[in-house]
Amino acid sequence: MLAPESVTQMQRERTDRARAGLANGEFKFSQSDNGWLIENRDGKQYSVTLGACTCQDFTQRGQSLGFTCKHIEAARILFSQCPGGQMDSNTQVTGWTKLFHPTGAQVSLPVPLEPLSAEQARAMFNSVAALIDAGFTVAAPGLEEGELAEEVSAVSLRNAKDNTPIIDFYSANTKLLKKFMHLYLNNEQDVADFEAATGLHLAGLTVYDGSLAIARDDNKAGKYITPLPRPIKLVWKLSPKWEEWKATGGEGQEPHKRLLVRYETKVSPVGTAASKPPTGTLVRRYQDGTSVNGDVNEQVAFDTYCKHNGSQAAQSKEVMRAWVKANPGLVTFPAK
Ligand SMILES: [Zn+2]
Repeated sequence: MLAPESVTQMQRERTDRARAGLANGEFKFSQSDNGWLIENRDGKQYSVTLGACTCQDFTQRGQSLGFTCKHIEAARILFSQCPGGQMDSNTQVTGWTKLFHPTGAQVSLPVPLEPLSAEQARAMFNSVAALIDAGFTVAAPGLEEGELAEEVSAVSLRNAKDNTPIIDFYSANTKLLKKFMHLYLNNEQDVADFEAATGLHLAGLTVYDGSLAIARDDNKAGKYITPLPRPIKLVWKLSPKWEEWKATGGEGQEPHKRLLVRYETKVSPVGTAASKPPTGTLVRRYQDGTSVNGDVNEQVAFDTYCKHNGSQAAQSKEVMRAWVKANPGLVTFPAK
């Protein structure tokens, strides 16, 4: 028999996992006869109500020990937080509304249809309005039509047959095991742009000799996949060749799908409907008042300095440069 504290602890872990899963968009909800079907990102699907779930965690442990699994918790968190009180499990989720934080972070909110009272609908409308008022935007900040953004947190290096370096980028979502996209560094400018955006030196990367990108769950991944000093954003678009291939039925070899448009190095583009600046915008400033420019290397150096100096910004850019020089290996920032 387990002590009550350990059941409480187990419950807390499941609730935490549910919160993390919801935040990462890990669960896909659809309606079922008496509750929901919840699909994990790995494609496994469970039948869930607010009181039971078909997953092993619940059927083999939770049910007898007295705690609920992450799926039940996810359903509870979503549907007991709906404005207007707790919705019953017949509430139909018809879709999701997506909003963006000015940093580019995306939140997904469920949109239930029935049964929804006028009062609940108004409360929901007002809560979305409140999110936008606080600075969330309806379009990803700083993107043009057709552009998409992906936060990436690691890279690896391969060489093409003609020795052109190929960089594989890995999503900041570490559950995505395969590379997100790859990029040929065709000339010195490409290399310089890559180094400026990532804060890494091409020459410092270990070349992976496979012809296809290495996956994160490969047992040699630790040797070849290099984490970035901090995640960066890739703005990309679908390749016209790929779209044409797809439109004509997808016969033959699939062309490359994603093309890099640019590295996004701006700290926080602003694009709200309201004229006031959004709250929570990250502004980096030295103590002498000058702001850190859009150079991602400088941002990384600035943040590293703060981290090692009691969360205090450097007095000036020159002071930070001197500190970077005096602490080799922590971060790279050109001595000018
Ligand atoms: Zn479950």
